[in-house]
Amino acid sequence: MEIGFIGLGNMGAPMAANLVAAGHAVTGFDLAAPCPERVTPAGSAADAASGRDVVITMLPNGAILRKVAEEILPAMAAGSVLVDCSTVEVAAARDVAGQAEAKGLGFLDAPVSGGVGGAAAGTLTFMVGGTEDAFATAKPLFEIMGQKAVHCGGAGNGQAAKICNNMILGVTMIATCEAFALADKLGLDRQAMFDVVSTSSGYSWTMNAYCPAPGIGPQSPADNGYRPGFAADLMLKDLRLSQAAAEDADADTPMGLAAMRLYETFVEAEDGSGRDFSAMLPRFEKRGRG
Ligand code: NAD
Repeated sequence: MEIGFIGLGNMGAPMAANLVAAGHAVTGFDLAAPCPERVTPAGSAADAASGRDVVITMLPNGAILRKVAEEILPAMAAGSVLVDCSTVEVAAARDVAGQAEAKGLGFLDAPVSGGVGGAAAGTLTFMVGGTEDAFATAKPLFEIMGQKAVHCGGAGNGQAAKICNNMILGVTMIATCEAFALADKLGLDRQAMFDVVSTSSGYSWTMNAYCPAPGIGPQSPADNGYRPGFAADLMLKDLRLSQAAAEDADADTPMGLAAMRLYETFVEAEDGSGRDFSAMLPRFEKRGRG
């Protein structure tokens, strides 16, 4: 396939490189980052998009997606598909989907989980919203860049799945960290706590697979000085997106709101920026109730 790839940062560059390695012709554009090897550089986003079968975007946020969509939708070939893999507001995905449809183009919102490691290894999970036809076109590309693509329904539903998942993740990580900090203060050994909880009703991905306590459970960022992994800053971004969606949809999400506020304090007023989101544990360790 002829593919345009716009946004070649930490995630986009390895994703584009995997498409090239699988034999696709990829033309790339980024405002700042260089094109990976064997990706043909274009002079603008519109040039990267023009005449391609599929255009993939991997951009920082919804405002930038809207701007890039304005530039590229008029340049895209009739019947081609825009696949946005960025994490953005549900509303931004649905607006761009409407604009694409009005021009006779396909659109998929296809945010990912799996991080930079998953992007490099080609093991991302794609959560996809959009039409069956557009999904069928992009599926072979998802299979190269990832190990799983779930079609979640119409436009915006991929973003909805992503932010609901990450709202659970943020809340659960905080619960796991505050429980470890309480256990410390009660004189309960962390290994004993892990052995009980990981096989009891408090188990979760954050306890069993990504334990925030160093030296406990499988290897995780806690064993690497809390270097990300999944940065607290990105968790804050996703929690903000889930709160924006909850506002729009009039959904009551008190735990998601509390998690957003905690990550906001951690990232903006404390030492959380640039650290893994599990570094909530050393934060709680240092604190009392006051
Ligand atoms: P990044 O900042 O490394 O990359 C974004 C790239 O977009 C940058 O290179 C930037 O120069 C480029 N860009 C910005 N405006 C542009 C424009 N107008 N035209 C062309 N290029 C432009 O970010 P990232 O870590 O690659 O993340 C990309 C997206 O993936 C985000 O939405 C993020 O939330 C999501 N995501 C990231 C991770 C992760 O672990 N990094 C995990 C899951 C999802």
